[in-house]
Amino acid sequence: MAVEKHINFFEFQKAAEKPGCPICRIVSDRANRYIDNTLFEHITNRGFRALYRAAGGFCSFHSRHLVSFRDGLAVAILCRDILEDRIDSFRKKSFWRPKGRCPVCVEREKIEQEYFDFLCGSDGNSSEERELRDFFVLSDGLCAVHYSGLTFTLKGKKRQTPAWIVNFQEQKFEKLKTRLDKFIELSAYGRQEEFSALCVADQTVWKEAAACLTENIE
Ligand SMILES: [Zn+2]
Ligand SMILES: [Zn+2]
Repeated sequence: MAVEKHINFFEFQKAAEKPGCPICRIVSDRANRYIDNTLFEHITNRGFRALYRAAGGFCSFHSRHLVSFRDGLAVAILCRDILEDRIDSFRKKSFWRPKGRCPVCVEREKIEQEYFDFLCGSDGNSSEERELRDFFVLSDGLCAVHYSGLTFTLKGKKRQTPAWIVNFQEQKFEKLKTRLDKFIELSAYGRQEEFSALCVADQTVWKEAAACLTENIE
C-alpha cells in the first residue's frame, strides 16, 4: 500500500469501530473540519472566495453551520459578496443562477472518491489489507449510498470492487431485507405475541433500514 493509503487505513479503522457507515462518518468529520479551516484560514484566499461566490454560498445543508460559527467577521465577508450579487440581479430583474457547486459538497465528493479508490485497491493480500478486512467485516458496513459508489463510478462505470467487500455488503443487505420482511409480517393484526418475542433490534429494524439507505451526514 502506498503512503497515503496508510492515512486512509487508520482513519477508516477508527471510523469502523464506531456505529454506522464508516465513510459517512469520515465524510461528516472531514467536511466539518473543512468548513472550520476555510472560515478560519482561507477567508482571505481569493480562490476560495471566488468559488464560494460563484456557487452563491454553501448549499442549504452546509450553510446551517454558518450561523453557529464563532467568527462573525469571516461569515460577514462571505455573505457580503453573495448579497452584492443578489442585489445586482434583483435590480436588473434577471434570474440569479449559480455558476458553481457548494465548495463543501465538492470537497465531500473528493473524500468519497478517495475512499472508493482506497477500498477498491485492497485485494486482501498484504498483511495490512488482511487487517483492513478483519475490522471491516466487524463494522456496520457501508450504507447503500456508499456501497453503490464503491461499485460504480459517478459516470456509471463498474469498479473493481474486491469480492470480499461485495460478499460482506450484499449478505448484510439481504439479511436486513429478511428482518424487514419478518417485521412487516409480524406487524399484522393478531401477531402481537410473536412480535413482542422479537429482540429489541428486530423490533426497531425499520430505523436501521432507513439509516442504511441514505447517507448519514451531520
Ligand atoms: Zn455511508
Ligand atoms: Zn454542500
